[in-house]
Amino acid sequence: MNEPSIETRVRLDALLSDFEELRQWQVGYPVNQDFDYSPLLPFMQYCANNVGDPFHESNFRINTHEIEREVIDRFANLMRLPGEQAWGYITSGGTEGNMYGLYMGREAFPDGVVYFSQDTHYSVVKILRVLKARNIMIRSQDNGEIDYDDLYETIRINRDVPVIIMANIGTTMKGAVDDLGKVRGILDDLAVTDRYIHGDAALSGMILPFVDEPQPYGFDAGLDSVAVSGHKLIGSPLPCGVALTKRGYVARVARSVEYVGVLDTTLSGSRNALTPLMLWYAFEHYGLDGFREVVADMLAVAEYAVARFNDSGIPAWRHENSVTVVFPKPAAEVLRKWQIAHYEDFAHVITMPHVTRETIDALADDCLKS
Ligand SMILES: *Cc1c(COP(=O)(O)O)cnc(C)c1O
Repeated sequence: MNEPSIETRVRLDALLSDFEELRQWQVGYPVNQDFDYSPLLPFMQYCANNVGDPFHESNFRINTHEIEREVIDRFANLMRLPGEQAWGYITSGGTEGNMYGLYMGREAFPDGVVYFSQDTHYSVVKILRVLKARNIMIRSQDNGEIDYDDLYETIRINRDVPVIIMANIGTTMKGAVDDLGKVRGILDDLAVTDRYIHGDAALSGMILPFVDEPQPYGFDAGLDSVAVSGHKLIGSPLPCGVALTKRGYVARVARSVEYVGVLDTTLSGSRNALTPLMLWYAFEHYGLDGFREVVADMLAVAEYAVARFNDSGIPAWRHENSVTVVFPKPAAEVLRKWQIAHYEDFAHVITMPHVTRETIDALADDCLKS
């Protein structure tokens, strides 16, 4: 390609300064803005493609499958899944990871019913339609956790049908974690043996492994698959995530494709080769200790935010180990300026690494003024 024309450059410069301006006001979405992948820029010059199963040979040799497998291994460790049992791939984001997990559940139990709470991410309804999976929505408690009594009663009257649970490991709006111990207790009580539990750990999947007293969140707590986002806590200019499950489930859907010489185990065919590289680079950069520090700092700012809001007379709260601070919905201009998501009568601020105590002070002042 030739050098860009002046008009093209003007257009790009304008867009760039928009991004630069907007980024500092973004406190309502769980995306880390604090990253620098510029050492990876040279890789933008190649048409790399991770088509197919990262654990299998591919005819398309400009790929990052080896790096991708290392990233999967990292996540398997974090999610307490022994490496030799682990299978996964880097997805386009949380939605694809959730679709993959529920796909595995549906393939394991084609007649199963998927149970999910009212507070589950909006994408679940679409995923269940695509999969044509039978499903029942369960009530949520006010704090965002699934209502265990409603779950118990609903499964009780459908005891003859396999159970597929979509568990929230950190809901989008309130950061609530469904209690996997209680969920398994319900299934044990009702003697449901045909069961599959998928965990949606978009944000908290990168928080709970790094705190001293996490809520149960991993494969050791009963998960059969999990989805974690890459562009949320870790941060990435390209949306991405990880789908992680057990090899046994994947073997059911594996199919070899001659054209690309790969096993067609992934939802998409051609896949991003740069996002595994970015996640790998982030793990190299931070290390586990680095992430532990990042998470501790985020939680400290969240604690500060609750105190600062409450001191100002704004009732704010958060769950244990959560960076999602919930408070009453502020005026429309505040929502717009700070790019805050709201639902019904409440809103939230998420203390990602670019959100500082000063940011919280300024936001609280704006809330009081409006
Ligand atoms: C963000 C989020 C998702 C979806 O992730 P995308 O990357 O936008 O597809 C799913 N579940 C939860 C809990 C989330 O917070």
